[in-house]
Amino acid sequence: MMISLRHVTRRFRARGTTITALDNVSMDVERGQFVTIHGASGSGKSTLLLTLGGMLRPHEGTVGVAETDLYQLSRGQLARFRAQHIGFVFQMFHLLPYLDVRQNIRLGAVARHDTGKRTDTWLERVGLQQRSRHRPGQLSVGECQRTALARALVSQPDLILADEPTGNLDSENTEEVLRMLSEFCQGGGTVVVVTHGSEADEYADRQYRLHNGKLRDRGMFSESDDRETGKSPRH
Ligand code: ADP
Ligand code: MG
Repeated sequence: MMISLRHVTRRFRARGTTITALDNVSMDVERGQFVTIHGASGSGKSTLLLTLGGMLRPHEGTVGVAETDLYQLSRGQLARFRAQHIGFVFQMFHLLPYLDVRQNIRLGAVARHDTGKRTDTWLERVGLQQRSRHRPGQLSVGECQRTALARALVSQPDLILADEPTGNLDSENTEEVLRMLSEFCQGGGTVVVVTHGSEADEYADRQYRLHNGKLRDRGMFSESDDRETGKSPRH
């Protein structure tokens, strides 16, 4: 199992109130699967992804990635594990503004001791050879996201965690980014996309829904099947 979440609960305390951002969430994701998790703003999507990525310790439950119990690792072990196994893609890209495209992509290859060759391969695959010396501020949003995707893929992760990866993109770049994520899956990688939209559904092997921190499996059905047949459990 690539991902094995067991009874994960994560709360936040703010101004005297407690919000349960993740409420007893359990989920298994097999290797090679493309999973989407839908949810409205505030439903716990980013919290779930950060928890899965080893960046946010849950208050209860366990997070297994590639048969490793993430929060049993030391800080250093966790950082190494992340660099070797997990790639992140965010809605706002999180590129370093003072580095150019190639340098940003190369950051992802650090754990692989890249001589530069692997970086150049990915620079080409995302179609940015002509932009390699540009900084993020000189790029379109689509080019920024393709840079971020190359940075994630160049490290040859087993798992890519994507937080609204196409939220700022036009339809052409959305298509391109989803296609590359899908290819990564076909090569044996695992992808989890959290989103409030439905653009990634056609690529998904399995769909989930988050509602007030609770996760529901929507199964293998498309949205329309789900509605027509009512096969998926609903509140
Ligand atoms: P989503 O990504 O689906 O919009 P989040 O996971 O960011 O939702 O947030 C889930 C809930 O947890 C929201 O109510 C949000 O306000 C709250 N929350 C998230 N992060 C924090 C934080 N660092 N401090 C306090 N509350 C937080
Ligand atoms: Mg979010």
